Amino acid sequence: MHEMSIAMAVIGQVEEAAERAGDVTAVRSVRLQVGELAGVVPDALSFCFELACAGTLLEGAELVTDTVPGRARCTPCAHEWAVGMPPLLSCPLCDGGATDLLSGRELQIVGVQWEDGRTPVPTAQPIPEER
Ligand SMILES: [Zn+2]
Repeated sequence: MHEMSIAMAVIGQVEEAAERAGDVTAVRSVRLQVGELAGVVPDALSFCFELACAGTLLEGAELVTDTVPGRARCTPCAHEWAVGMPPLLSCPLCDGGATDLLSGRELQIVGVQWEDGRTPVPTAQPIPEER
């Protein structure tokens, strides 16, 4: 199952980061950015995550998923649009097929909450301020 291997990878990354951090006793939550086009079903991922966490440092941790909408830009006319689902990948203005996918394929940990407070995962991308 696709979602199960993603869940295992997420757990592996968090465990590694927790080990580096030292005194982490438990993980409360993991925040994951999931692009609309990443091919992940959030409900299935939550389910797998819960199963895979059993017996690890992450047991009982909550998986929070942020869905990132897919956006594309047309190379010839620079028009930008939300690709939607199923994705529309040719330009709605000029019908050009040369497009850049700006977002929507994300699949990364953007934050982890340890037992002692919110700590960024050292291996992840910079964490955007949301509030
Ligand atoms: Zn165009």
